[in-house]
This record gives sequence, C-alpha cells and structure tokens, in this order.
Amino acid sequence: MKNSKIEWCDSSWNPITGCLHDCEYCYARKIANRFKGCIEDESAPITASLNGMQTGAVIELDAPMKRKTEGGEIITAPYPFGFQPTLHRYRLDDPKKWTKPRTIFVCSMADIFGDWVPDEWIEAVFAACEKASQHRYLFLTKNPKRLCELANKKKLPKNENFWFGSTVDTTKSRLYPGRLRDNTFISIEPLLEPLNVGIGSFGGARWIIIGAETGNREGKVIPKKEWIDNICEAADITHAAVFMKDSLLPIVGESNMRREFPWENITT
Ligand code: SF4
Repeated sequence: MKNSKIEWCDSSWNPITGCLHDCEYCYARKIANRFKGCIEDESAPITASLNGMQTGAVIELDAPMKRKTEGGEIITAPYPFGFQPTLHRYRLDDPKKWTKPRTIFVCSMADIFGDWVPDEWIEAVFAACEKASQHRYLFLTKNPKRLCELANKKKLPKNENFWFGSTVDTTKSRLYPGRLRDNTFISIEPLLEPLNVGIGSFGGARWIIIGAETGNREGKVIPKKEWIDNICEAADITHAAVFMKDSLLPIVGESNMRREFPWENITT
C-alpha cells in the first residue's frame, strides 16, 4: 500500500506538476528537471506538440506524452515540460482505481494553490477526490492566501476527508489556514530558523509536521533542538498532534520522536 517515501502519507498523486515559487531548497524542481523532456518536444515546437492546450505559463495535457530513456526505452514522460506548471488531466481518475483507502498527498510536485493555478484546475482536482471518497486527501501550500480566496468564493470543500495545510519555514510564513476548516495542518519543513511560536500561534491547526532540511545544499540549515521543543510546546497547548520526520532523529533522539496522526489519536 505505502508507495511514497514521504513518511506522513501512503501515496502521492500528481495531477498537477510544476511550481513557480522558486524555493532554494526545492527537491521537486530537481526531480522534474532530471526527468523532463518528451519525444514530441524533440521533433516539434512545444506549442505544436501539446495534445491539450497551453495558456501563458501553464500547460494542460489530455493524454500522457512519451519520453525516451538513456537506454532507448520509450516510457510515459512524467514531467514533459520540466517544472512548468502542467495539468495532467489524464491522471485525474487515478484515485478511483485505488480501491483500498489511502492517505494521499495531493500534488507533492507542485503548489496546487499557487496564484498561477487556474481555479478550474483546482476544482477538477477536488471533483476527482470527491469521486474517490474512500481516501484521505492532504493538500499543502506555500500560498494559504489562495485558500482564503477560494473559501470566500465558496470553492473550498468542507469534506471531512480533505485536509488543508500550509508550509512554514521561517518567521515570515505567517498566514496559517487554522481557522478556515476543521481539518487543517501546518508543515514546518524545512525548519530554517527559530519560530518563537507561543500560545495560539498555530490557530486551530490540528496537526504540526516538523522536518529538517535534507540534501547537501550549500548553506543547509540544521535546526537546534530548542527550536523543535518550542514548536512542540506550542502544539501541545492547543492539543495539536505532532509528527516529526526522520530528519529530526539525530537532533531530538529516538526517545523524543513523535509520530502522531490527528485522525488516529495514536502515538508511536
Ligand atoms: S513551494 Fe514546494 S514545489 Fe514549489 S518551489 Fe517551493 S519547495 Fe518547490
């Protein structure tokens, strides 16, 4: 069942890929650029080869494109246009095919709520999730303002199995979605500086995920244990569950690792 390396979900599903936020530490951009390209693009200009449509900075694909591997094998191109925002419309029915319930991270290779993403794409993804209600869907954004805008337009679903989260990495990431819906969470990853959070800092968020930066980027930040303790203390005040990613293990130690899920009320 578990086919994602991300510890807090079972699977990731990417009907939309690509992102324009340009975070320095972005792993998704590296992966997308590593596996970018498609045969159609080699033989024709991008605009002529699309089997969907291209509008400004975003692309829609109705059917998958093909890519040739280094070994000459022809496979489905996962990121035909690298990290350029792309709707893979043909992936929208994937959750319906997975009969066993999963916890799914929606669009781990994009920011589905980036300002550049058309409302129609977001609505198409929500509709696809509603058609496969056996799963739990986790949506995560660096642009929680868009969640508020969608809520104001009555376009943000209230489904029990939809969880909306925002990423916080520095003290500048201040807009939390905590009071928008019952099921909200905050992903503090990578933790880049002390957040100095206190009572009520996390609003009504029910789950706090914490992770350190991974990889070997020059200037990589290793968080201090007291930064993490401070976040846990603030989470405990409002009874939010805490999930520490493996990257925190060397910092907090095995006995202090917390792996809580708000829907299970279980600590492992
Ligand atoms: S928001 Fe996420 S996907 Fe977008 S650039 Fe930043 S790390 Fe990458």
